[in-house]
Amino acid sequence: MSAYSTEQLREWDRRHVWHPFTQMQEWEQDQPLVIVRGEGSWLIDSDGNRYLDGVASMWTNVHGHCRHELNEALKIQVDRLEHSTLLGLAGEQSIILARRLAEITPQGLTRIFYSDNGSTAMEVAVKMAFQYQIHRGCPERTRFITFRHAYHGDTLGAVSVGGIEIYHATFKPLMFETIQVPAPYCYRCELGCDTPETCGMKCIDALDAVMREHAAVCAGLVIEPLLQGAGGMIVQPPGFLKRVRELCDSHGILMIADEVATGFGRTGRMFACDHEAVVPDIMALSKGIAAGYLPLAATVTNDEVYSAFLGDYARLKTFFHGHTFTGNPLACAVALKSLELFESDRLLEGLVPKIAYLAVRLAAYAGLPHVGEVRQCGMAAGVELVEDRATRRHYPWELKVGIRVCLAARRLGIFSRPLGNTIVVYPPLAVTMHELELLMDGLEQAIREVTGA
Ligand SMILES: *Cc1c(COP(=O)(O)O)cnc(C)c1O
Repeated sequence: MSAYSTEQLREWDRRHVWHPFTQMQEWEQDQPLVIVRGEGSWLIDSDGNRYLDGVASMWTNVHGHCRHELNEALKIQVDRLEHSTLLGLAGEQSIILARRLAEITPQGLTRIFYSDNGSTAMEVAVKMAFQYQIHRGCPERTRFITFRHAYHGDTLGAVSVGGIEIYHATFKPLMFETIQVPAPYCYRCELGCDTPETCGMKCIDALDAVMREHAAVCAGLVIEPLLQGAGGMIVQPPGFLKRVRELCDSHGILMIADEVATGFGRTGRMFACDHEAVVPDIMALSKGIAAGYLPLAATVTNDEVYSAFLGDYARLKTFFHGHTFTGNPLACAVALKSLELFESDRLLEGLVPKIAYLAVRLAAYAGLPHVGEVRQCGMAAGVELVEDRATRRHYPWELKVGIRVCLAARRLGIFSRPLGNTIVVYPPLAVTMHELELLMDGLEQAIREVTGA
């Protein structure tokens, strides 16, 4: 399986690898799985054990692991060119991919700015919106409207427009200030609503009020369309996104849609914005763009934003931003092949029965005594565990109930990673019905085991 024993690999991991979002003191006491291979929806560890990849390798995987056609596309490209810069040169694969992205993203989004991860895609979006306002003669429009519970990445600009206290509070002195508004979160949000629909309406009213007061100094609004992922798989009620678009329009504020998680089929359509025929001014893409194979991201915008940056060299209208591995040919080649597979596999059509099955299983989960709420958006779902269903009192976070459920699931051959006490369901889109059944059976058993239901 590996040239080194599992024990050897674990020892070196403990000694040298600092894992993300991880308390390393605990990690060092653990016996982490060491993944050496992948096959479809499965991850295989150094001892040959198989685990169903319940979170699509941090929400990136689309067609399964080691998909033959993607591997071949990568091999063909690596024998042609591994990397060449977009600073001063154009590149074949990035050109062809940009043309494809302009075709499939909402109408009017035509200009593709490449980078290599979701955070950078958002940094680009924020800086682009900010500089656009200067170029169009509104330099006083410097601020951003953001949502509670939002997550846009971990670099400082992305953190600034985020809204998850536990991740972001420490870095407050380094962040720029935004105008934060409530996001639909049903019974939990501070507006005191009882259904997602009333909550959505109250959030829109709050947003409208904020815009009336501050629009003249706002450059843009940042939103995860339909689904706030890292915030806990929080789903917006139908119509919410469309109203946000209308408000942005009436106040001259750029709408920045962060589709890093929702893009490329996760919600059941190619993009979340497609569900409500919304065209954002700027759209950030990453995670699924290269099918989970390689780091790649794109910030996509329209001709109007793009044109504002045109002018004589000396007028300094240039967008001074760029990353070394921008438009990497290997990643672009895989992304192109992935888009081909969306068509030849009829992937989106194939999601319909899977999404319906997921809904049925989640409805049954909702009857478990410690499930406070289930939330689903296409092929993404969150199962929120609570100590007391009547009062919806949370388990104290120190009990790590979410983590314990995932450890129980691991013993059943399922890998998952929770968001606090919310269990995440986020398999590769190409998961089979049978695998989806295994996943939902396993998670249910694990929840029952840990919550004593
Ligand atoms: C994951 C994520 C990001 C950050 O992407 P990275 O590649 O981890 O930097 C940004 N926005 C959303 C909505 C995400 O889910």
